[in-house]
Amino acid sequence: MFYLPTRIFFGADALEQSRDHIQPLGRKALIVTGKAGAKQCGALDETCALLDDLGSKWSHFDEITENPVLEQVISGKKRFLQEDCDFLIGIGGGSPIDAAKAISLAAANDLGIDDVYDVSRFKKAYPIIAIPTTSGTGTETTQYSVLTDNAKQKKAGFGSELVFPSLAICVPRYTLSLPQNVTLNTGIDALSHLLEGIYSVKRNPLLYPLIQSGVKSIILNLPIALNEPGNLKVREELMRASLYGGMTIAHAGTTLQHSIGYPLTSLFGVPHGLANGIVMKDMMELYFPAVETELNAMFAHLGMSKADFFAWLEKLLPDTYIPLTEEEIECCTTEVMASRNMASNPFVVDADQVKTLYRKTLRETL
Ligand code: NAP
Ligand code: FE
Repeated sequence: MFYLPTRIFFGADALEQSRDHIQPLGRKALIVTGKAGAKQCGALDETCALLDDLGSKWSHFDEITENPVLEQVISGKKRFLQEDCDFLIGIGGGSPIDAAKAISLAAANDLGIDDVYDVSRFKKAYPIIAIPTTSGTGTETTQYSVLTDNAKQKKAGFGSELVFPSLAICVPRYTLSLPQNVTLNTGIDALSHLLEGIYSVKRNPLLYPLIQSGVKSIILNLPIALNEPGNLKVREELMRASLYGGMTIAHAGTTLQHSIGYPLTSLFGVPHGLANGIVMKDMMELYFPAVETELNAMFAHLGMSKADFFAWLEKLLPDTYIPLTEEEIECCTTEVMASRNMASNPFVVDADQVKTLYRKTLRETL
């Protein structure tokens, strides 16, 4: 089964191409961004200019930080209702787009701060346009939103088909202004999503051509993007790979590969993509016996061995040392075991295996 209700525009003129599809979504947009990125890359100004040209009204809410918190969702909901908006445009990395999804649900279903993860209360949503300015999360084509609950010091996601964006507008030049560390971390995030399409118990051969093409593109282009940030062709390849990653996890879900990184972000501030990267090699070793045929087919397509892939990864990732104590490992493991991603693993992974991963990758070897 392959299902994606999002209309995708991709390329230099994607925004212009989407013009006829914007007005039917509503009268007034709440544009949801972070403080600087959307403006800096040109996406915000170009979007506002198009809305003005179409005669559509808009209000700008720029209070979303990295790893958006529930309080920001609730203040976005208030602004949406005060301004009498009826659709949303999330511009940015995953953080503002995920926040736009949650604001849509909070406004449509009158959710309070304690209800934002409660999918049983999601009956409707306002339409969402997603304009990515990073090449990582693929959230422009997913039903997921990942938020942080400050009170519980916990990062977790929810999934609801109601928040599949109506339009995904992917303009590779918006990623030209990404700093080197964000380029790296987001590229690794996209790579995780693609690999998880193979690991997941919901793996779907319809996705394999996207996965193989996306992984190849990242392996070839991510190292170049780090040295040549202004190389548009390379940026386009990475944005396409990230889009394929989003289409992949929309079907296959994410696995332990993702949930093991969430506590590292909420407790230690490790960027999301890097948190995935730190455990990537050991995750692949853990899952390998269960998906050997599929992974070998991917490596054959790449023309590289597993060892070559690990060498590529080691060269790319910075050495990261996180001084986890046994108590913290215990705490992170409890959070991981309760995450919904665990249902997507290719076999049942127990708490001891998770602890071993934390110890091995984070404390002893680095
Ligand atoms: P992000 O947190 O949205 O942004 C990271 C940083 O990059 C911010 O400082 C941002 O600035 C800046 N930035 C963004 N675009 C820029 C540009 N074009 N030029 C210059 N700076 C730019 O990063 P992300 O990695 O894309 O998103 C990560 C979040 O998405 C995490 O919370 C993660 O858990 C989530 N995620 C969601 C899904 C999903 O399916 N929904 C999947 C994977 C991950 P501003 O703050 O000024 O915007
Ligand atoms: Fe991710």
